[in-house]
Amino acid sequence: MKAAVFHGAGRLTAEEWPRPSIGDGDLLLRLRGCGLCGSDIVKLAGPAPTAPTVLGHEVVGEVVQLGAGVTGFAIGDRVVAAHHVPCGDCHFCRRGSPSMCRTFKTSNLDPGGFAEYVRVPAPNVLHACFRVPRHVRDEDASFVEPLACCLRATKRARVEAGDTAVVVGLGSIGCLFVQLLKRLGAAVVGCDPIAERADLAKRLGADAAGAAALASTMARELSEGRGADQVIVTGGGADVLPWAAEVVRDGGAIHFFAGGGDALPLRLDTLYHRELTVTATYSSSPADLQEAFRLIVAGEVAVERLITHRVSLGRLAHGVELMRRREALKVYVTP
Ligand SMILES: [Zn+2]
Ligand SMILES: [Zn+2]
Repeated sequence: MKAAVFHGAGRLTAEEWPRPSIGDGDLLLRLRGCGLCGSDIVKLAGPAPTAPTVLGHEVVGEVVQLGAGVTGFAIGDRVVAAHHVPCGDCHFCRRGSPSMCRTFKTSNLDPGGFAEYVRVPAPNVLHACFRVPRHVRDEDASFVEPLACCLRATKRARVEAGDTAVVVGLGSIGCLFVQLLKRLGAAVVGCDPIAERADLAKRLGADAAGAAALASTMARELSEGRGADQVIVTGGGADVLPWAAEVVRDGGAIHFFAGGGDALPLRLDTLYHRELTVTATYSSSPADLQEAFRLIVAGEVAVERLITHRVSLGRLAHGVELMRRREALKVYVTP
């Protein structure tokens, strides 16, 4: 079968890859499409620790083979499948850190979403795989995994009704955050230098959106001068922290949804005297996936305007370039 294979150092080529064979409890999918995630872009820029490798984890496919004992799915079903599943039983899982579970980090789709056929391992079939109803388009279903990560972040950032929240970076992830924060009853300010992205965020419910100066003024205005309760950083990495610390209120929280950069440029005295909290979210849990799936099926989160470019497996490198240049909001990859 064909797959987009990553060889490290930015080298990505379409080539032959062995078609996975399935075991008990597994599913084999024929790929219908896979979202290109910001985390894929980051991985593609670095060395490939296990090169050659196949990335991609926002997978929509059609079931073409069922392992022994699989129930709830049939040949021909359209499904959306996520890549990581925790064990549900270890110290990490029992204390609300499922994404730090050792099983979580080692579980994966085989070989990955940028391939013509994808094996969904048995634990993923049980906990991270959903049958897509007829009225939901493939592209919309591919947002289940990213939306689940955003959901978990809003919980970890402890957003409450009446809060003022700032979202830094209005790519597809930022646009998901805007909607989730509005659903929670927060006033939302989007921050992005690209005017079209700010406009889209406003259409999706942001009370205000624009470049940094406007965002900081609006956050102050909407919070009666206190500053934002939360600043959620989806892009820009550590460099955003000094600005975020100016925009957040005393006692507020800055939440990183992505890495990027080295040490955090913030004085410990600022953190201490102002009781600031700096947190982060890496990935989601089966419960978040379930909730994200429900929101998308019910049409309660709008995702249909977020995919701006479509490329084939053979043109994945071009899709990566479009995301890097911030020309594409979200790229969807088809076989
Ligand atoms: Zn993702
Ligand atoms: Zn665990």
